[in-house]
Amino acid sequence: MNYIPWRLVKSWTCFMCGSCCTRYAVTLTWEEHRRIGRFWPDKVRVKNRKPYLGRRVDGRCDFLYGKGCYLQIVNMKPFSCKIWPLRVLLKPDRVDRSSHGLCQIHNRERFVYLNPACSGINKGNPLDLSETLREVIELSIDSKRQQRYSTTEQLDFNRLISSPRTKRIWDQVLVRGKVDLDPALRDQRQRESTRLYAFERPEGASIGLCLY
Ligand code: SF4
Ligand code: SF4
Repeated sequence: MNYIPWRLVKSWTCFMCGSCCTRYAVTLTWEEHRRIGRFWPDKVRVKNRKPYLGRRVDGRCDFLYGKGCYLQIVNMKPFSCKIWPLRVLLKPDRVDRSSHGLCQIHNRERFVYLNPACSGINKGNPLDLSETLREVIELSIDSKRQQRYSTTEQLDFNRLISSPRTKRIWDQVLVRGKVDLDPALRDQRQRESTRLYAFERPEGASIGLCLY
């Protein structure tokens, strides 16, 4: 597949068509595989000695809820999902002979390309593209950095905690150890819900989501 150098696109935005969370296998780093696998051992895979996230039989990611991402809430969204559909390289892609992918941010030189399968290419506000470029380059340096230009909806936490599926997922988190909530949630009413939810489950109160 030929990736498109960022200079050859007018703009990019994610309008949440959901295609990237339903059609592609998500590659993980080994650290992500270990971290996610600690909570959900049945939702990570190794294929041809490469780590992946599990998918449902219909191809959807195991962590997709509506158009939102569970892993984003617990700050475990994989690096490949955070930067999709962009790709950051240290050298130009072999087909990019004119170095159209070159991007300089914070005195660093990187080469950035977009996956043509994303239908958000050439949509949205052209001025947002430079922010997105800056963010993906910063993420390529520090993958744990907070992501603002999300490829998924921010989930409604109050609605989520009342869903039976979420309760199962939280129970797994509560039983298996401590996680960090997405910092964005700490500033909102959700924080209160999180504490209440954790307190309602005494066996999980000393670990899991009882962080505040
Ligand atoms: S990143 Fe692209 S493919 Fe994924 S949901 Fe957004 S618009 Fe759709
Ligand atoms: S963004 Fe979240 S829901 Fe979508 S593929 Fe990645 S982990 Fe799964």
